[in-house]
Amino acid sequence: MEPQRSPLLEVRGNIELKKPLIKAPSRLPLPGTRFKRGPDQMEDALEPEKKRTRGLDTVTKIATSQSRAPAITARTQTQNQITAPKVPKKTGPRCSTAIAMVLKNQKSGPAVPAQKPGAAAPPMVGGRKPTKRPAWDLKGQLCDLNAELKCCRERTQTLAQENQQLQDQLREAQQQAKARGAECRTLEGELARVQAQAEQGQQELGSLRARVLELEEQQCTQEGLLRELQKEQLGLQEERRGLAARLEEQERRLQASEAALSGSQAEVASLRQEATGQAALLVEQGERLHGLEMERRRLHNQLQELKGNIRVFCRVRPVLPGEPTPPPSFLLFPSGPGGPADPPTRLSVSRCDERRGTLSGAPAPATRHDFSFDRVFPPGSRQDEVFEEIAMLVQSALDGYPVCIFAYGQTGSGKTFTMEGGPGRDPQVEGLIPRALRHLFSVAQELGGQGWTYSFVASYVEIYNETVRDLLATGPRKGQGGECEIRRAGPGSEELTVTNARYVPVSCEKEVEALLHLAHQNRAVARTSQNERSSRSHSVFQLQISGEHTGRGLQCGASLNLVDLAGSERLDPSLALGPGERDRLRETQAINSSLSTLGLVIMALSNKESHIPYRNSKLTYLLQNSLGGSAKMLMFVNISPLEENVSESLNSLRFASKVQLPPGPGPVRTPGCL
Ligand code: ADP
Ligand code: MG
Repeated sequence: MEPQRSPLLEVRGNIELKKPLIKAPSRLPLPGTRFKRGPDQMEDALEPEKKRTRGLDTVTKIATSQSRAPAITARTQTQNQITAPKVPKKTGPRCSTAIAMVLKNQKSGPAVPAQKPGAAAPPMVGGRKPTKRPAWDLKGQLCDLNAELKCCRERTQTLAQENQQLQDQLREAQQQAKARGAECRTLEGELARVQAQAEQGQQELGSLRARVLELEEQQCTQEGLLRELQKEQLGLQEERRGLAARLEEQERRLQASEAALSGSQAEVASLRQEATGQAALLVEQGERLHGLEMERRRLHNQLQELKGNIRVFCRVRPVLPGEPTPPPSFLLFPSGPGGPADPPTRLSVSRCDERRGTLSGAPAPATRHDFSFDRVFPPGSRQDEVFEEIAMLVQSALDGYPVCIFAYGQTGSGKTFTMEGGPGRDPQVEGLIPRALRHLFSVAQELGGQGWTYSFVASYVEIYNETVRDLLATGPRKGQGGECEIRRAGPGSEELTVTNARYVPVSCEKEVEALLHLAHQNRAVARTSQNERSSRSHSVFQLQISGEHTGRGLQCGASLNLVDLAGSERLDPSLALGPGERDRLRETQAINSSLSTLGLVIMALSNKESHIPYRNSKLTYLLQNSLGGSAKMLMFVNISPLEENVSESLNSLRFASKVQLPPGPGPVRTPGCL
């Protein structure tokens, strides 16, 4: 780009252009051309060289100027005058000067031949010079001088006019010079101003150059930046293209989604409508379900009552490794009326009465003792089969009916195995307590779907020698057997509670497992201090069940009691008793007393007697709210399969037969003991 030209430079250029005009050598104007000069030529006239000539005599100058070009003409005139000389009339100083000049000219010119006086000077024919008048031709000479004088006068006049014109011209030139001088000063002023401007311009130019450099640097930086930006732009354009493609894809998907959405919205609308209908139906179904649930509860209870509010199950444990195998006919499990497909309900025990030995020494005949119970479990019965039979009772507890399940039998007959389970953590040998609780939690969760909320609180105590001890005690009380008392929960309250005993809320199997483990530990500690106390005490696991249906304002509550009774074996009073055995006898009597009280209570309840002797033992006192009325009771009578235990087995079977409820409505049941 061509830089803009500074106005200052233009001015300088103009000035440079004018200089030659000012300094050009002056020349005097030629006659006839002076009026045609322009202003520049007039300026030339004012040059110093010219001015130096100003002081000279005007006439001289004119003469000088006259002596240049028109010299020939003057000579011609002189010759003409010589040809026709006139006598000068009168000559003044100027005339004489002129004459002198003419003479001088004549002297300097070629010699003219002298003519005779009185004879006119011969005219110059064919370029020939007139001949010089002879010295004696004074008249002729005078004539010539007169003619020449006349000529000089004319010329003087002409020169005077020219002089006048030149003076006018000079004045005019002077005025112009003045004007030019003024103009020159103006121009000088302007020049100074322009120079100042030029300096300023130079400074500006300098700063502009610095600025230009700076800008160039900036430009370099900007160009570098621009290149980076261009590179970035390329990247961004690439990215933009990718994004545009993605956007297009997303838009396409969006359109598809919108189409699907509109379809879904229509579907939702119809589903909502359907849901409204379903909700109404659900409410109706809920009502129906609730009605059915209440009906189920009623029928379930009716069924349980028909089965008997007091039921007895007999369970025979298997022969353990190392134990003598009993004769095959010792225990028999005859089929029921429905044949072998029916679950067994009968048990036949064969007893060889040695006291009735024959005189011949032949073996005494065996006596058969047949028993019939609600259910008989032969030695091979599994834990889950047993639980299946009591699951309905556990359901009754959830429905709000108190339930008591006892395990009765001599020590080693399998009571603890039935209630708590076998050794180890094998789930196959899990007892009734963990299975019952798992079942309760599961059913409670199902009933939660119908609006029922259940909570469970567990306690575990043992009653030894008519004293109550907490099996869930922790800390310093752990295993110490700190005494507990059975009290009413409040004045006028029917509810009973065990003081100093822990009541632990439980909601899952793990918590129950932990409680059973703790109880087991507490018993183990006790066993070291008092020999085999566990089998000489009743352990009572109680679970308080509370159910609530907030939507309908319904509540139900009951307790499930799982009791592992003390061994029912009796001591032979005929045996010699040492001091330790006396204690053992007293202990046994206490156990037997509480067991017979339990039998009496159950029988009194069965017979619907007015007085039920609950207070006769701590066990019946503690369980009084879970016995009688609408309460369900199940007694497991555990039997040893060994022949050596036949006496105790028969005692247990007889006891269980006594507590069995007399036949209710429906088929007449055979009495337990035949
Ligand atoms: P109890 O509590 O009546 O004194 P246990 O429950 O302690 O009797 O049982 C005595 C022994 O017999 C234990 O070793 C137990 O494991 C075992 N036992 C009891 N019943 C069964 C059974 N049904 N199956 C297998 N073993 C059993
Ligand atoms: Mg036991």
